[in-house]
Amino acid sequence: MADWSESRGLRFSSTKSSVVNFTRKRCSPSINLSLYGHRLPVVTSVKFLGIILDSKLNWCHHITELKKKCLGRLNLLKMLNGSSWGADRKCLLRLYKTHLRSILDYSSIIYGSASSGILQKLDVIQNQALRICTGALRSSPISSLHVETNIVPLTHHRSGQILRYYFKVLKNPTHINAYRLNCPTQSSCSTTLQEICRSLLHFYDISPSNLEDLPMKAIHQQLDHSINIVLQCQWTNGPSNKLRLLKPTLEEWSTSYQENRKLEKVLARLRIGHTIATHQYLFTRSPPPICARCEILIDVPHLLNDCQNFSISRELLFGFSPFPVYNNLTNTSPKFNTVVQFLFREKSALYNSI
Ligand SMILES: [Zn+2]
Repeated sequence: MADWSESRGLRFSSTKSSVVNFTRKRCSPSINLSLYGHRLPVVTSVKFLGIILDSKLNWCHHITELKKKCLGRLNLLKMLNGSSWGADRKCLLRLYKTHLRSILDYSSIIYGSASSGILQKLDVIQNQALRICTGALRSSPISSLHVETNIVPLTHHRSGQILRYYFKVLKNPTHINAYRLNCPTQSSCSTTLQEICRSLLHFYDISPSNLEDLPMKAIHQQLDHSINIVLQCQWTNGPSNKLRLLKPTLEEWSTSYQENRKLEKVLARLRIGHTIATHQYLFTRSPPPICARCEILIDVPHLLNDCQNFSISRELLFGFSPFPVYNNLTNTSPKFNTVVQFLFREKSALYNSI
């Protein structure tokens, strides 16, 4: 190797070099290699271009380090998350995408071949970030966080990136990985990348022949559309969820973004259906709360629609007939602003207990 490098005018640094034996065997043979008379240390993992390659290639070490790095960066979001003075949701989500998800995206095409159990460690990062951005409680379902913020779950986001890469290679026959992805047989050159791409194309019901002639921008749009169809199907057929009653279709809601940060949090909690008034008992391990006046279990529809404690404000703003305030939390409701007035009017008893 030393002769080869010197014949090409290169010289490897022996102090920066090490040996990794890539094998899944527990007992690997001892290796004794030296470079320029310097014996190279045998290690179980090595960092190359920001990616930690471990000897078993299961990416466990890389993902653990990535998670540690992201948890440190989450502190920035926490610092900006004040109820009265904090940054708004738009700013926090932008910060999450640029400051955290960007480092999760780096090399995700490579480490995406790790087992789902190992990859799930990274889901914690996005879940926690979305909780901070929305102000949702810890008890809020994870699916609700993704739908409320219109952010794609990390697994599907990673799949989208792998498929974008697949089509980028497919459109460029001279690409270094072109032979790996186009190999017709799953023989010696069949790789996990090829297998992953094939299974993803099948999962999202994508036919490469329909897309390969399109420009890359159109391919990206089609991939996003296919992923969205799967996500919508999962949301529609998933377990019962309070947010789904208000938001059956996956889309961005303009009313989720408010100038008042406290109002943003209150609206998100009411829509998700998990508020301090209704779900704090889960953290204190107490029995579920009962409304002292109505003698009924407290939930968000009860607080907004039926609770006698707020009947005066409700009748004043919505009229004397029973009015479904809860249903008007939706983005397109003509009475949405009246709901906000109702919340501000009951500031001490309702708004501040959410
Ligand atoms: Zn009540």
